[in-house]
Amino acid sequence: MSMTEEVAQHVHLYKGIADTHTHLILWQTKEMDWKVLFQTCIDNGLELALDVGTNTDTFETRLDMVNQFDQLYITDGLSVSKSELEDADLKRRLYDLEKQVAANRDGGKLVAVGEIGLDNHFEYGGPERQKKLFAAQLDIAKQFDLPVVIHTREADPDTYSMLSSAKLSRAGIIHCFSSDWEWAKKYLDLGFYISFSGNVTYKKSEGIQEAAAKVPAGRILAETDAPFLTPQKVRKYPNWSGFIGHTYDFIAALRGTLPEELAFQVTRNFKTLMGLTQ
Ligand SMILES: [Zn+2]
Repeated sequence: MSMTEEVAQHVHLYKGIADTHTHLILWQTKEMDWKVLFQTCIDNGLELALDVGTNTDTFETRLDMVNQFDQLYITDGLSVSKSELEDADLKRRLYDLEKQVAANRDGGKLVAVGEIGLDNHFEYGGPERQKKLFAAQLDIAKQFDLPVVIHTREADPDTYSMLSSAKLSRAGIIHCFSSDWEWAKKYLDLGFYISFSGNVTYKKSEGIQEAAAKVPAGRILAETDAPFLTPQKVRKYPNWSGFIGHTYDFIAALRGTLPEELAFQVTRNFKTLMGLTQ
């Protein structure tokens, strides 16, 4: 059996559910046919998904993919890993980002700038280059009045201080939230939404779980970050949007609610943040 058929057999979704962060282009690197599997998601109730960018060079390819389904939205941005690139290369990509955002700002598919941020776990280009790249993209988000999708790993103090001094017009999403309730509260105070991925279901995620239990209903989101961070119950497989029901089950149990109810809430939150019609 192919990997596509195998993971499709284990699809677990609810009606109206959302996946607020996935990387469709990477599903294929795990031998999963993204188009077949995304259709499987829709057939099983998925209402929307956000395809998140890490590299402007793949934006046009991704836009072609996203344009094939009404349920898909897209972001554009340079991930923190790109801080390793040489100055001239980075400058060219930031120029491309600005052009691509300008061209698609009002097309209905592009809803945010991201993923952008800081990462002290993998150092990439080092703290100063990371901050420079992050700041340049916060400026672009501001210039086009778009929300941001934030990646922050072992970097909360710097991420928080840059977000708070950026005075963004639209706030955004702290993606794959991996800190604790104290940091969640600070990001919430800045107007951010907190998005939980499959790692909330892992052992030793007590801090993340406490935050998932306490984030207000109007600010919670849930994502796969597929093909990474597969929920515990199906962890032997690569991740895809069809597995996100497991993450909803886990978070709903922590909050004493039903996964169907959480699905309704997350989808509504996402549409509110992105300015989509309810
Ligand atoms: Zn991601």
